[in-house]
Amino acid sequence: MPWLHVSPDSDFSLQNLPFGIFHTGDHRPRAGIAIGGHIIDLEVAAETGLFGKRRFFKKIFAQATLNEFIALGKPVTNRIRRKVREWLERSATPENALQILADRKTATMLMPIRVPNYTDFYSSIEHATNVGKMFRPDNPLLPNWRWMPVGYHGRASSIVVSGTPIRRPSGQILVPGGEADTPIFAPTRQLDFELEMAFVIGKESTLGEPITVENAEEHIFGLVLFNDWSARDIQRWEYVPLGPFLGKNFGSSISPWIVPLEALKPFRVKSPKQKPAPLEYLKTKGLKNLDIELAVTLTSPKNNAATLLCQSNTKYLYWSMAQQLAHHTVNGCNVQVGDLMASGTISGPTPDSYGSMLELSWGGRNPITLNDGTTRTFLQDG
Ligand code: CA
Repeated sequence: MPWLHVSPDSDFSLQNLPFGIFHTGDHRPRAGIAIGGHIIDLEVAAETGLFGKRRFFKKIFAQATLNEFIALGKPVTNRIRRKVREWLERSATPENALQILADRKTATMLMPIRVPNYTDFYSSIEHATNVGKMFRPDNPLLPNWRWMPVGYHGRASSIVVSGTPIRRPSGQILVPGGEADTPIFAPTRQLDFELEMAFVIGKESTLGEPITVENAEEHIFGLVLFNDWSARDIQRWEYVPLGPFLGKNFGSSISPWIVPLEALKPFRVKSPKQKPAPLEYLKTKGLKNLDIELAVTLTSPKNNAATLLCQSNTKYLYWSMAQQLAHHTVNGCNVQVGDLMASGTISGPTPDSYGSMLELSWGGRNPITLNDGTTRTFLQDG
């Protein structure tokens, strides 16, 4: 790509070419692929005939979500990426590049998919053990945890694209020094993030028919970053016996770009050793996990500077995406295109790899010092 400068440390290289939905101030949402500081406008690219079937692809890409495109299946979605890569490497001229490329700096990124259903897993053994220690000191890891990818059905309506403001939720909380088992109604005092990744379903399944662990990845289109905002004080009071509810469903943020699963092939690694060996329907072979470095920074409004809070990695996850999806559907539950399945907080083995404030400040007991000198146990406004 001699005519297009892509910095070698750019998040968006020829290798990943992720999909998203954007507009450029005209409020006309359309599909794009990120490359360096640019967006390939897929609607315009379709119009120039880059993908064949001009009218068909122009209509597919001139939409507010990627669902219809994703539903065309991997042969089509992968062909579009291949065509774009070939165009970038060989065919593009500066003239038609000007027509097809938008500047990422002037683009507004939108929610890339309509999410029919959202499920949140709990697949990091380090996170489950840490939270268990704080909520149930005698019994941190419940007996079912090593037998199945534990999860719950979350709320799809409040999933938003990164950058969308999240309002601090109010709810029932128990306050220290208050009357035993008598809550007050107040804004959460323990607002938290959860460092997660989520996969996007690209192929629906039929009610009553499980997806096998071998076929599971055929149903996965790609991955996004996922922040599962949480209100710990609301969560602590409400979560027994039916699990998370208002402490979780007030908002989750996803990254605007979806990285297709195929682009992550170079980062394939083995999952951690599973003991006891899983039941037959969850047994997998080969490289089912991903080695993706993750980090969380917190920006203080005082000096507008970011402090690194943690560094983690998807390779720590005990249960793989294939196992999550096989377990989710083993009873016949069906999935739909655009469904999001989040990993659960991805914590690593060391305290600097914990993926939530709950763990980093150990339940609020150990304040974290930011680089402006102030401290946090949970998140403040702004
Ligand atoms: Ca979560």
